[in-house]
Amino acid sequence: MNTCSSAYVHIPFCVRKCPYCDFTSFEKMSDHKGPYLCALFREVELTSVQSPGGPLSTVYFGGGTPSLLTPEEAGSILDKIGDSFGIETGAEITIEANPGTVTASALRGYRNTGFNRISIGVQSFSNRVLRGLGRIHTAEEADRAIRMSAEDGFSNISCDLMLGVPEQTLADIVHSVRHLIDLGVPHISCYSLSLEDGTLFFEKYSGRPDQLPSDEEEREMYNTVRRLLADAGYRHYEISNFALTGFESRHNTVYWDALPYYGFGCGAHSYIDGARIGNEVSLKRYIEVLTADAPDLKGIQSETERIDREAEMREVMLLGFRKLSGISTADFQTRFGIAPEQIFGHELEVLLQDGRIEKADGRWFLSEKGLDFGNEVFRSFVQ
Ligand code: SF4
Repeated sequence: MNTCSSAYVHIPFCVRKCPYCDFTSFEKMSDHKGPYLCALFREVELTSVQSPGGPLSTVYFGGGTPSLLTPEEAGSILDKIGDSFGIETGAEITIEANPGTVTASALRGYRNTGFNRISIGVQSFSNRVLRGLGRIHTAEEADRAIRMSAEDGFSNISCDLMLGVPEQTLADIVHSVRHLIDLGVPHISCYSLSLEDGTLFFEKYSGRPDQLPSDEEEREMYNTVRRLLADAGYRHYEISNFALTGFESRHNTVYWDALPYYGFGCGAHSYIDGARIGNEVSLKRYIEVLTADAPDLKGIQSETERIDREAEMREVMLLGFRKLSGISTADFQTRFGIAPEQIFGHELEVLLQDGRIEKADGRWFLSEKGLDFGNEVFRSFVQ
């Protein structure tokens, strides 16, 4: 029996593909939505038979753009998951929303069907930056989406901002962060732009650093965000995430703790029964396999990596350092029966000598210097 108590649901549709995005998402949803939902239901049913688990304490609808679903459609997926695995009372149930797609009645509908957390892809409150990013919404629509979410009953609101994007200035990011603070948004994620192979941004900007904020400018933006949010009472709890007390993302903490979770949908990832599984990214194939007379989950699993004990220990270190609280040696010992120092003594010593990590109160965590070079710390634990 596996111990999954979290589920991710991927809704791979967007109004228009953003030029920097390499997530699995497709335009022209109306051609595929009905068959996709049938396929998704089959995947949930089959998984509940092959890998029973639950009840779930977190469910997360991500994308793509889940807010393209009607409340009835989103609610029917949630019901199917509840019927198949059970959902705990008080579970954290999140839906991602693009500000260009939400209406007050849809937000009310999501709230009434059981979603109690909304994650809004704001990215910036500068219309110049939003245009450069190819987003479908304006700053005013993002502001309205946040206000409507609060009015329609969402007290747990998260907003995403992006750093290091073309034409962005320090003043832009200061304005965006201050605006979220003024709106009382209790959870803020701040991710740096990454140029992903295969995207329009990769073609346009890779090898052209003059077109993007420099590393120093981006670091200044990041440290300014940290300072502004700390002054406003937010806790920096993960390298890219900040929350008022009690609003930390329970779902994402499952990822950072390297715990198992279900992942449903085209292009979704899961960690079940000791394997990390990547689902088919072809929408056509995902739908065809799952709506066939004898659907087979193996037919939609395009990548499977077995996670043995050593790999799991590496993941716990690598992901654990993302959290500002780091890795507890006692928790590691309880999970694996051995202390992290006995397995990763050399790596920890090198990072400690280099000033990138610290140890206190039985925990290893990133130092101030390490926060600026997180990727180098994480890489130390990759095999
Ligand atoms: S809305 Fe989000 S998922 Fe869709 S294309 Fe843009 S960044 Fe990607």
